[in-house]
Amino acid sequence: MRVKRVLVIVAHADDMEFMAGGTIAKMADLGFTIREVIATNNERGTLEPDWSTSFTAEARREEARRGAKVLGVDPEIEFLGYEDGRLSETPLNELRERCMRAIRRHKPDVLFTWDAHAPYEDHQDHRAVAWAATEAAMFAHFPLYHQEHRDEGLEPHYVGERYFFAKSPRDANKTVDISDYIERKIEALCEHVCQMEMTVADLQVQLTASGLEIPFLREADRKDYRPVIEAQIKAWAASVGRKAGFAYGEEFRRVRFNGIERWARGSESVLPDEL
Ligand SMILES: [Zn+2]
Repeated sequence: MRVKRVLVIVAHADDMEFMAGGTIAKMADLGFTIREVIATNNERGTLEPDWSTSFTAEARREEARRGAKVLGVDPEIEFLGYEDGRLSETPLNELRERCMRAIRRHKPDVLFTWDAHAPYEDHQDHRAVAWAATEAAMFAHFPLYHQEHRDEGLEPHYVGERYFFAKSPRDANKTVDISDYIERKIEALCEHVCQMEMTVADLQVQLTASGLEIPFLREADRKDYRPVIEAQIKAWAASVGRKAGFAYGEEFRRVRFNGIERWARGSESVLPDEL
């Protein structure tokens, strides 16, 4: 069987690890080749008051490469270079073209990205990349979309499978058993030092504001973030996995071949499910 190619298009350095780290590690172990495209420079993602945005951007790029390596993703990450926190101000047509170019360059069988149709996504960068990547995948095989790509040797390309993830998933139809990959997911996340420190600090802000008492979290040192991240990720993955009978899971709204699968129902020729 031909080696499958996976492309992950996200807004930030840690999005892939948070939302699909276990699944991506599992795919890497199955022999899939995995590339990552990160739309922003992540230059606002630190709590260090003395860091410049350019220093932060380089630190976050390095963290992204380390996280990717842990999961088995090609560490040659493609950074689109947009400003952190302002992706939604980029014209959709421009961002869609960048995503379509990435799809035509990397020729993925499978795309992972944020779900444009899921509710309650407060982050403007997630919403922006979700729409751009989803629409790019929809039309990348049509030759008259961005004909200028052909001048660069990029051919139209059809993306058969799309895995959409969301913090509040809607119509999730695929839960991946990541029980054997939960530690690698946590390990990959912990490579994102800046973001994990921010996560702990953010949880502590929420805790203080709520008036609740969780001594373990209140007393946590954000520089020693691993126990908090581990507890948070395991609790989340356990609640997702429980519904499907797994110790730990990640869930997606998966679209395969735009629904052609439905035509094969009733026969034995349903699509194989590698995960
Ligand atoms: Zn993000």
